[in-house]
Amino acid sequence: MKNIENIRNVTIIAHIDHGKTTLSDSLLAASGLISKKLASELRYLDYDQIEQTRGITIKAANAVIHYIYKGQEYIINLIDTPGHIDFSGYVTRSLRASDGALVVIDAIEGVMVQTETVTRQALSEYVKPVLFINKVDRLIKEKRLNPDDFLKAINDIVRNFNILLEKYSESKISENWRVSFLRLNVAFGSAKDKWGVRLIDILEWAGKSINDVKSTSELLQILKDFLKYVYSQYKENNVKELSERFPVEKAVLEMIIDHIPNPREAQKARIPIIWQGDLSSEIGKALIECDLNAPPVVFIYDVKYDLKAGFIATGRVFSGTIKVKQALHMVHAGNDFIVNQLAVVIGKSKIPVREVSSGNHVVFIGVKDIIVGETIVSPELKNIEPFERLRYVSEPVVTVSIEPIDFSQYDYVQQMISQFAKTEPGIEFSINKDTGEMLLSGMGELQIEIFLQKLQRAGIYVEVGRPIVLYREGILRSSRFLSKETKEGTKFTYRVLPLNECFIQKIESQRAGDIRKILSECRILEKGTIIGYNPKYKNIVIDNSETVPEALYPQIKTTIDLILQKGPLVGEPCYGILIEISEFGSLLPTDKIDLIELNEVFSEVKTLILESEPTLLEPWQKFEITTPSEYVGDIVAVLNKRLAKILTIDSFKYLYKVIAEIPVRFSFGISNELRDVSKGYATWGAEHLGYRPVKENLEQLIFDIKRQKGLL
Ligand code: GDP
Repeated sequence: MKNIENIRNVTIIAHIDHGKTTLSDSLLAASGLISKKLASELRYLDYDQIEQTRGITIKAANAVIHYIYKGQEYIINLIDTPGHIDFSGYVTRSLRASDGALVVIDAIEGVMVQTETVTRQALSEYVKPVLFINKVDRLIKEKRLNPDDFLKAINDIVRNFNILLEKYSESKISENWRVSFLRLNVAFGSAKDKWGVRLIDILEWAGKSINDVKSTSELLQILKDFLKYVYSQYKENNVKELSERFPVEKAVLEMIIDHIPNPREAQKARIPIIWQGDLSSEIGKALIECDLNAPPVVFIYDVKYDLKAGFIATGRVFSGTIKVKQALHMVHAGNDFIVNQLAVVIGKSKIPVREVSSGNHVVFIGVKDIIVGETIVSPELKNIEPFERLRYVSEPVVTVSIEPIDFSQYDYVQQMISQFAKTEPGIEFSINKDTGEMLLSGMGELQIEIFLQKLQRAGIYVEVGRPIVLYREGILRSSRFLSKETKEGTKFTYRVLPLNECFIQKIESQRAGDIRKILSECRILEKGTIIGYNPKYKNIVIDNSETVPEALYPQIKTTIDLILQKGPLVGEPCYGILIEISEFGSLLPTDKIDLIELNEVFSEVKTLILESEPTLLEPWQKFEITTPSEYVGDIVAVLNKRLAKILTIDSFKYLYKVIAEIPVRFSFGISNELRDVSKGYATWGAEHLGYRPVKENLEQLIFDIKRQKGLL
């Protein structure tokens, strides 16, 4: 673990059901963690009982794999992640801790909507991908493709994946990171049948080296001969030979070692992106160098809550060495703590260790108040710039009200749920102060359902209300300028403007985006200084007068955040609103302008919102459904009934692909319905599209929400 050059940190990412967990089994078997025989059936990293019974991954799971390659020992820290959109927060977290991504793509389905989302996430964290094309047994057995068509299918996937790289990264990176058979950063095979190959393995089988191959046609011939051999093994039911000659773990782990940078190499490029501190400082240099002997700096990317042990936090060590009994400091929480227990983790097992050095993953057991996103340092570094916040692909969009079954347990239930909620990305727990009602929000129905199932396991039983979507309040046009002066003589002139979809998309895709520049690119506002930006609700305050004292910025931001937290229509948070200050003057010295004063000035923000075509905004999702042709009609009927916008219906390779956009409020229960009408043959993935104005029956919806909230 101290030999940094021989460490690799990798996350497995893919569209749901493309085979991540099955493949992880074989990788674990490579280092003797599970038996080779059981690998691919055990789905070891889906150790949670809910995962085993439902057959889907609902969390990220770590493993440390030991592998010997070309006479050297390597450690591969592997994280398996969920493919379902409701659990995408785990992907974001895991990628921060990784330097490479093993992208798994189903050979039949190809690049799907979640493949695109997770690849985009990886590229935004500057995590380098390698590709494994899985389930090729289906091309042979189900689709009965001849070797020519087989190669074409695989090539299409490689090409489509490279298109994603071009789309989501700068040209230099997409060129350097392009995947291809010749570069040896693509492998294909069958995780289920436990075999996999890169071009180098195929050439070896043919008794050649890459330099022996004189032309493309010769290379193609070798590939086809190899495929003929594979086909014959399938025909003769002799797949075992394939897995013995071409173990999938060999192809994949060697591809990872060859192509994913070691932590030192990776941190040189990644630290300037994920840490905004001074790179020329002592600690800046230590982070770039992944220095074992520097003071420790750790990023916490996973926290679990255990009834006995308390919080169990996993982090990536970016510099220094963490030791038992050491004093450490949490930068966000501002607390010091002493390390009592350290471990490394493999699936559900935690292996106690006395120290963990940089480039590796460390588990802290029993640290109070530790949260995901925390930066942990040695106490002398307590003023360090923390790591950049994690950028999730979506905020929670669905909420349910919950009530303890045994009301005498209200306080206990509330306390336990808030502990559990802290650990689950995308789950938020709150209490309506007026009614005492407990509200649980999540990324989707499935996430909430599974969260409640986990609570039950901890002995917490609750009754659950109907799911409703989380609305936001927005405006459709800009307002007039309004001047407001307080009795004490503080005057501001300001107006409100809507931030359009162009702005929201750009701000989401650009890291630490230059908000000013984006505002001008999207033709919203040309000049001004940013006073505050609220990344959750995408609201911005800008000083265009250039006269507001900088000392007032934090208070103005706090005041406006509070005002916008409850919109004027139904009391939901305002979203995508820009407040432009055009004039400022005050008779008071700056340090006497307090929150009460500012609150009075900005209380008219709501008046301006009401004058600017206020509307409700609702979350939308994109659905991509693949299905055999005979179910297309029924699937389209399900979508139409739910007022979805069908964008395309294409015959795609051997299946049909239906792409549709649907408001989340009409998507409840759609999974079961799609499964029923397609007799289980359709598969689908979804992606969040963000908030859009409610088009139909706005008045009625406002009335309903007000009634529901007791506002009428
Ligand atoms: P994940 O959601 O990406 O973790 O996918 P899983 O590993 O849970 O696999 C999803 C389904 O695909 C399971 O039913 C697996 O048995 C199946 N599967 C995985 N790999 C292969 C493969 O190589 N060939 C075939 N035919 N099925 C596979």
